[in-house]
Amino acid sequence: MTDLDRLLRQDTTAGPTAQASPPRHAMTVDVEDYFQVYAFFHCIPRDTWDGYARRVEANVDRILTQFAAANVSATFFTLGWIAERHPAMIRRIVEAGHELASHGYDHTRVDAMDAAAFRADLLRTRNILQDTGGVAVRGYRAPTFSIGPTTPWAFEIMAETGHTYSSSVNPVRSDNYGMPDAPRTPYQPLPGNAAFWEFPMTTVRLFGRNLPCAGGGYFRLLPYWLFHRGFTRATETERRAGIFYFHPWEVDPDQPRVPGCGWKSRLRHYTNLARMSARLERLLGDFDWGRMDRVFAAELAGTGATGVAATDAPRVLGQAAQHVADPMLADPMRAGPMLADPMLADPIQADPTLADPTLADPTLADPTLADPHPADPILGAALDLTTAAVQADFNRTVDANLDAILDAAVARGQYPSRKPT
Ligand SMILES: [Zn+2]
Repeated sequence: MTDLDRLLRQDTTAGPTAQASPPRHAMTVDVEDYFQVYAFFHCIPRDTWDGYARRVEANVDRILTQFAAANVSATFFTLGWIAERHPAMIRRIVEAGHELASHGYDHTRVDAMDAAAFRADLLRTRNILQDTGGVAVRGYRAPTFSIGPTTPWAFEIMAETGHTYSSSVNPVRSDNYGMPDAPRTPYQPLPGNAAFWEFPMTTVRLFGRNLPCAGGGYFRLLPYWLFHRGFTRATETERRAGIFYFHPWEVDPDQPRVPGCGWKSRLRHYTNLARMSARLERLLGDFDWGRMDRVFAAELAGTGATGVAATDAPRVLGQAAQHVADPMLADPMRAGPMLADPMLADPIQADPTLADPTLADPTLADPTLADPHPADPILGAALDLTTAAVQADFNRTVDANLDAILDAAVARGQYPSRKPT
């Protein structure tokens, strides 16, 4: 019996295939102004910040309105520096039912501080936020996800200073941050302290690598449906809560342009700002969102873990068997986003062999032989390029690359047409 047969057999005995309701995901906002971001760190010194016209309050109000309209509660990881200058905004965040959490005092990277400085930063920020908001602050997110091997004391100090969770690990490889070998799912990083949790940013596992799928610039740069597919795959197929994050300055296309910061910083910061609010609106409607502390309430109450419980093993194996039986159809990321996305013309109707890749390439029926890339070379190239571009952060313009590949395919008559994204 092959592995495939075994998995298929388990699939038939896995019991009812009724879907569990999709998990609720955590919506988060990192509250900082446009001149405080890491991309501009090298050209805007902290001691000049007060010389910039602040736009954060108007942008947060815009976000609060959007959240209220969508009936979404969220967690606002906020800088102490901002809370000191915008106390009324902090109170509006709390009064609207959102969770107030810490993003450090002035966006200093954790790996740029020693343990004592980090402790002082956390205490100062927590005191400001609690005094201003009138609520307990339990959560912390490191600026630029800047904890890692050089900050082994970070979690200990977070717990010491009264925090019960962190959302500071981004298990990806990036030029600015990332712990690619860190767990992708919630974990208790402190031996002997089961009450403290790390909730890592959402990633999608593809070709043995973790790709970022939690928001940030990727959400603005990638076509919406590609992000949507990735987030769905990373959360609903794995049946766990995802985490999305963005910044108030991302909903502000009219913000002043900061000159002289380099093309890469500009690309990272300004691409698709004008599209952000509409994308966000769609995202708010497409998934079920809540505050970090409520989405992960079971963990924080010490009653359980997210992810897949041991008793769910048959169902999980059933899902695995589905994937194996037809990897192209069952796994949209593998199938190639062009094929799977209904926004594009349906190429499956144009070419029936695409509907079942095992017809076109029998080795795909056996996962141990299969090349994970789609049989279609155009789609394979597109997916490779997308993967490489995401891994390379913003060094390549993904939209343009995908457009060029698809346009070439349309010109060759391989795909009937496509809608612009
Ligand atoms: Zn930040």
